[in-house]
Amino acid sequence: MSLVVQKYGGTSVGSIEKIKNVAKRIAKYYKEGHKLVVVVSAMGDTTDDLIEMAEKINPNPEPREMDFLLSSGERISAALTAMALQNLGIPAIALSGKQAGIITDNIHTKANILKIEPKRILEELEKGRVVIVAGFQGYELQKGDVTTLGRGGSDATAVALAAVLKADICEIYTDVDGIFTADPRIVPNAKKLDFISYEEMLEMAGQGAQVMQLRSVDLAATYKVPVIVRSSFNENSGTLIGEGKEVETKQKVKGIAHNKNIAKVTIVGVPDKPGIAHKIFAPLGERAINVDDIVQNVSKDGITDLSFTVPEKELQKTIEAIQEVVKEIGAKEINYDNNVGKVSIVGWGIQSTPGIAAKMFGILASAGINIEMITTSEIKITCIIRRDLVEKAVRALHDGFNLGGEE
Ligand code: ADP
Ligand code: ASP
Ligand code: MG
Repeated sequence: MSLVVQKYGGTSVGSIEKIKNVAKRIAKYYKEGHKLVVVVSAMGDTTDDLIEMAEKINPNPEPREMDFLLSSGERISAALTAMALQNLGIPAIALSGKQAGIITDNIHTKANILKIEPKRILEELEKGRVVIVAGFQGYELQKGDVTTLGRGGSDATAVALAAVLKADICEIYTDVDGIFTADPRIVPNAKKLDFISYEEMLEMAGQGAQVMQLRSVDLAATYKVPVIVRSSFNENSGTLIGEGKEVETKQKVKGIAHNKNIAKVTIVGVPDKPGIAHKIFAPLGERAINVDDIVQNVSKDGITDLSFTVPEKELQKTIEAIQEVVKEIGAKEINYDNNVGKVSIVGWGIQSTPGIAAKMFGILASAGINIEMITTSEIKITCIIRRDLVEKAVRALHDGFNLGGEE
């Protein structure tokens, strides 16, 4: 008998009909004799709708109350999914993140899972029940308050539970057939991959492919959880995310990722001295702001410019956080630009293969796209460009590197 953790995303449980269908799928696995822990997201756009409501009431809501509010979305779908199963005669129980024993730090709205105490889950499994866990949430130990795990956080709930329960597999059910060479909503002939390594998926997710939350991939890689991403609407086999490289092929570029929700911050006139970068980035770290794509220009007369990107919704917080230090170190000013986006090519061996970077820049140039910043890692090259050109860039690179399948 195998233990399987399944996660159904928002679209998959987006209506009463869809919840009933998900329940039928779960019932089928249950009857095959698997032990099942099922993580569900909030129905459809519930989380977005709740955020909108909160911001209409208070433009700057307290993160604690935000978590209190947002965690309710997943409780609704967990309860309804359990009821749908019970209606099919399958024993099931819905648990909140807290009841499932998910303990986090107290960084409200983007808490990290610290530990899971799965006693209750194990007891319920022992009784032969399907355990439905409300995704995206846990609780912190100081006050026992509910926390949420950042957007897309139900993926993290599922992978973390799979790791702790030593599940045979973690299945992420979503609205596409698996991981594609690019977002299929933007590139119609994007090809589904059968396999992608943890490292490549980390870069894809880190550079914006929202199909898997970045932290969940990190957890999967750390605890070597085999993950399958597949559709909840058909029986296709999906994509395995796992260890190791595929047999070396000539094609190094595995996929194109993009992100339109970033902003670029530039600190102008930074004195080029030891310790300055630390001074600038420490306050951002303390506020748990995700800084990415840091580029420092060559200094001239002991003065340099420093640019980096942050999620657009954290731009205001970022500027507030660095205002003091910028004065203190004697830098000239802070500029920001929230009309930027980024596009990345991802794949093993990209950095060590001569010509790939040149080819990327050539493709973008031919498409008339200006590159404003470039960052690289061992398995990715990222270009910051105008936001309205991001989709064009994704399609041009996908074509240029011949990643497409049949249309
Ligand atoms: P869920 O609600 O199931 O968690 P998400 O909306 O978070 O689903 O993620 C699925 C979406 O991710 C797809 O509809 C697709 O548009 C998008 N996506 C972006 N990049 C990729 C990619 N490389 N492969 C597959 N899907 C991708
Ligand atoms: N409902 C949450 C969100 O929309 C978590 C999730 O779907 O994974 O971000
Ligand atoms: Mg998601």
